[in-house]
Formats: sequence, structure tokens, C-alpha cells
Amino acid sequence: IVDALQAPAQCHQIPVLLDAGIGIAPITQQCEDRDGMEWMRRAVAAADTARRRPGRHGWYEPDVDAAQRRAFLLLASLAQALQSDDELSLHLQPRIELPSGRCGSAEALLRWRHPLLGDVAPAEFIPLAEKTALMASLSLWVMRAALRVLACTRDLDFSLSFNVTARDLESAGFMDALLHSLQAQAIEPQRVQLEFTESVLIEQPEEVLQQLLRAHQAGIAIAIDDFGTGYSNWVYLTQIPASIVKLDRSLVHRAASGTREALLVQSVVGLANELGYQVAAEGIETAEQLVQACAWGCVEAQGYFIARPMPAAVFKEWFHDTQQKVSVV
Ligand code: C2E
Ligand code: MG
Ligand code: MG
Repeated sequence: IVDALQAPAQCHQIPVLLDAGIGIAPITQQCEDRDGMEWMRRAVAAADTARRRPGRHGWYEPDVDAAQRRAFLLLASLAQALQSDDELSLHLQPRIELPSGRCGSAEALLRWRHPLLGDVAPAEFIPLAEKTALMASLSLWVMRAALRVLACTRDLDFSLSFNVTARDLESAGFMDALLHSLQAQAIEPQRVQLEFTESVLIEQPEEVLQQLLRAHQAGIAIAIDDFGTGYSNWVYLTQIPASIVKLDRSLVHRAASGTREALLVQSVVGLANELGYQVAAEGIETAEQLVQACAWGCVEAQGYFIARPMPAAVFKEWFHDTQQKVSVV
């Protein structure tokens, strides 16, 4: 059957390629539910998975199905989370300057405590939300919460970065809201940074670039997040009005001193510095990694070794305590 379905189907003289997958689901007693359609749902789930397999056929797998159900449940409850006032929150993770050890900025990271499932990691729910219209509301929520933190910490000298996705910048709405809120709350744009990750999913690169330029012209710094993974490359870097490059933690972790990886990272940091970017090292977990980041020429570090992400009130205390200390490295 799979072979037969490989041949294009003719539709008004246009050969259309079919995207068939064959799901095999045993019909058992467990399939008997109220509407009698459970066996069908299982077969469709198996067919969906089979489409991504080389043989294009496969058995129903309860684990895969459970993951899909969880994804569905998360998306279905995210709209409710946006309305509630106690499910979503921002945690702040300090970013320290090298070599002084002074905290000059922090990254705002979204946290979600689901009423039934407990804490759900952003790495799980953000990619799901990105496929839906909910991402726009989620990003606005994060932006407003971040500005609230800045409005309550006018006496503290630090800037706050938050993560935006390409989708947020594919139209003017998000940037309009950000620039308007900054002005309305009299927050200096220099206290805000946007962390942006390139993705192949960018559908309107021109528009995204336009929105990043608006941010840049307003005085908001742009950081390229997760540099060294995925799709980040130099050509792309030179097109974006970014001033900061954040080295992904996978790069930092692989580059133990004396290895070829370390030489590569050192060269990358050197090149970025020569091009005028400030380089930040993410995911610093040990003193050795901190010393190494400093030796590479990174001017900023972030990671569990320095501090874990924490609620805004705790960050304020941490900030007061730590600013007394100088010269960590
Ligand atoms: P990211 O922007 O690269 O954020 C850094 C992630 O690394 C955070 O994970 C942080 O908790 C974690 N991290 C920091 N230091 C260390 C370390 O020393 N070791 C290890 N193993 N991890 C460390 P988190 O908070 O789970 O966020 C994961 C990703 O989810 C973020 O990666 C970002 O891409 C996304 N994300 C988080 N909050 C938001 C948000 O508000 N909006 C958007 N669009 N994405 C967000
Ligand atoms: Mg980030
Ligand atoms: Mg990152």
C-alpha cells in the first residue's frame, strides 16, 4: 500500500505528491469508550507518527500518544493560564560583567505552574505555543511583566533582557506595544534588552529586521541568543542590529580547556569581539568555566555557578548583597 501511494495522484493534470502514513492500532477492549471512536483516534495518532518514519507505517505507541495528549492539554490550558493571576510568573537570572563580577543585567525567564501538572518548563510549552496564536499573548504577558519589574526597581542600576520569538516580530504589533509601554511608564529603553534566536521558521525576514531596527533605534539592545546552535551564522549576524552575542551553554560545556572545541570557541569570541559584539557566556556551571569564559574574552557570564533564576523579590535582595563584592575572577 505504501508503494502504491508513493505515485503522484493526478489532479487537473497536476501531479500531486501524497503524504500518506499508515497507522496500525489493535482494537482492544481499552478502545471502547463512550463514543466508540477511541480506536480511530489511536489509528490516526499512529498514522501521524508513521508519516515521519522512513517506512511510512507503524504501530500505535502509547508513549508517543501520551506525549501528544500532554501537548494538547498544555495548549488547551495555556489560554486559562494567561487569564489567571497565579499560574505564570517571571524569574530573573543575573548576568554578571567580566572580569569585575558586577551584575549589570538579568534575564527574565517565564515560569508556569499548571494547576494539575505542576511546574512546566518553558522548553516544553514555548515551542508548542509558538505554533499557535497564543504565542503573541504570551509574549505580551512577558513584556508587561518585565516592564513591571523595571518600574519597581528604578533605584537599581541594571537592565533586563527578555526573550522574543521571530513570530513576535513578523508584524508591528508587539514592538508598538513595547515602545508605547516604555514611554507610558517612563522606563528608559536602555534598561531593556531583547534576546532573539534565529529560526528557520521566519516567514517574513524583512519585517522581522524592520522591527529589530525600530528597537535598536529606540535604544533597546539586541542580543543574539543561543549562538553556536541551530541556525545562527555570521551572515545572519551581520544583518541584524545586535550588539550582544550569547554563546549557548552547549558550546561552553563542550569546550573544556585544551580541547580543539576550546580553540574554536576562543576564535569565535575573538572574531565576534573584532566585529564589535560583546560576547556573553551562558550556562556557566563551574569556576573553571567562568575563568575560561573570561580568558576567551567574554565580557559577561550567566549560569547556575553565579546564580539560578529567582523570583523578582529575591533578585532584588541578591542584587543588593552582590553589588558589594567585586572581582570574582
Ligand atoms: P534561554 O533564553 O537560552 O535561557 C537560558 C536557559 O538556560 C534558562 O532555561 C535557564 O534557566 C537555563 N540556565 C541558565 N544557567 C544555566 C546553567 O548553568 N546550566 C543549565 N543547565 N541551564 C542554565 P529555562 O528558563 O528553562 O528556559 C529555556 C528556554 O525557554 C530559554 O532559553 C528560552 O529560549 C525559552 N524561554 C524562557 N522564557 C521565555 C519567554 O519569556 N519567552 C520566550 N519566547 N522564550 C522563553
Ligand atoms: Mg535567552
Ligand atoms: Mg540562550
